[in-house]
Formats: sequence, structure tokens, C-alpha cells
Amino acid sequence: MVELKTERSIAEMRAPGRVVARALASVRQAARVGVSLRDLDGVAREVLDAAGATSPFLGYRPEFAPVPFPAVICASVNDAIVHGIPNDYRLRDGDLVSIDCGAKLGGWAGDAAVSFTVGRARPADLRLIETAEEALAAGIAAALPGNRIGDIAHAVGTVCRAAGYGIPDGFGGHGVGRNMHEDPGVPNEGRPGRGMKLRPGMVLAIEPMLVAGGTDDYRCDGDGWTLRTVDGSRAAHVEHTVAITADGPQILTAP
Ligand code: MG
Ligand code: MG
Repeated sequence: MVELKTERSIAEMRAPGRVVARALASVRQAARVGVSLRDLDGVAREVLDAAGATSPFLGYRPEFAPVPFPAVICASVNDAIVHGIPNDYRLRDGDLVSIDCGAKLGGWAGDAAVSFTVGRARPADLRLIETAEEALAAGIAAALPGNRIGDIAHAVGTVCRAAGYGIPDGFGGHGVGRNMHEDPGVPNEGRPGRGMKLRPGMVLAIEPMLVAGGTDDYRCDGDGWTLRTVDGSRAAHVEHTVAITADGPQILTAP
């Protein structure tokens, strides 16, 4: 079931969206060499608490998960693609960090992610992140009434593939509303003109995940959550929650 939001509901969804944007900005600012992933989770918790928001990540337990997710952010470093559990790992010079954060406020959810480097960046990492951001922008640009889910997927996938990167199989975006994960699924690769028709009032999380080594395979860590590249190459993940409107796409998680 895809719930179409009214203009008023979309306006209300900006509130959790802004909290997510603020949390991600704060985490990014706090992320330096020597800071632990657990510290970064604490930074995001403070932002959510101060806004009176709750975390849709904390305690989240989909079918595949052996334990409920224990944090308010996913912190995925280097070869971790997504779903990294913030632990005592301390950031090192040249790390590539992907942070995913969600918030619930006023009965609505928001969901976004950023990737960035810490300390002296590798040029290859900057190119990977830049391509992820280009893929996200292309996906958002395709989020137009009358287009289809496949148009978004095709836009995202084309940017990733043109740069030679892998796209983890079976992962992608989703509808956002009262809950963080709703229908429809938004794949990161697909055929244009296929899939559900986009209509004003649909709100979608678009979230490219790129694997530098070019493979689409992934493996899951012993923690049951963290997804890693099989070739050890680095990965990037960026995400926005986007409303489809008659006036074009509106990013609800923009800073
Ligand atoms: Mg997310
Ligand atoms: Mg998401």
C-alpha cells in the first residue's frame, strides 16, 4: 500500500527531515581521527533528544536481523556498505565514513545518509562519494509525477555503472511516511518506464550504494547487521527523503 500524502502532511514531514539533516551535520562535524563510532551515535542522539524526536533505527528488528539495532545511526566505515553498528572503533586518517540516520517526529519519519572522509582523503574515495551524490541527484531529478519507479532506478544505476562501480544486489530505497520503511521499494538499478507510476504525494527515500571494486556482491558481518564488500574495496552510501509534487521533487531532509 502506498499512502499519498497531502500537501499538509508533506509540510509536516519536513520536521523530522530537518532533524535528520541536523543530526547528520553534527555527526559529520564531530567525525575526526580518534573519535569512536559510538561517540558519533551519541552526537546524533543528542540532536534527536533536543528536538523531541525518536529514532526509528533504535530497536529496529527486520526479519534478517539476529538482534534489534542498538543505535540511532548506522556508521559504515571503508568496506562496510550500510547498516554498520556504531562500536568502539576509532576513526583513522583517510577513513571513508557513511552515516545513515532516521528520525520520527509528529507521527512522521525522515531518513537520510551522507558519506565523507576523515583526515587526508584518498582521491579514489572522493570520486566514489562524488559519484554517489551525482547518482542521488539524478534519481531525485527523475522523481517526477508521470515518471515511474524504474525511471528513478535507471537514473541512479546509470550514473553508478558509467563510473564502473558495483551496486549491492537487492538493496535500495523505499517509501517513507508514518514509518521509515514503506512501499514502494526503490531499486538502485532498473529499466526506464517500468514499475509503479509516480504521483504527487508519494514520498520516497532514494539511496544509492556504490562499491568501488565494481562487484554487486556483499557479505554480512558476524554482528548480523553490517554489510561489507566481498572484495574489501570501499563503499559509499547517500540518501535523501524526497516528496513528489506537481511542482517537482522536494528534498525533505535537506540541511
Ligand atoms: Mg537511511
Ligand atoms: Mg532508507
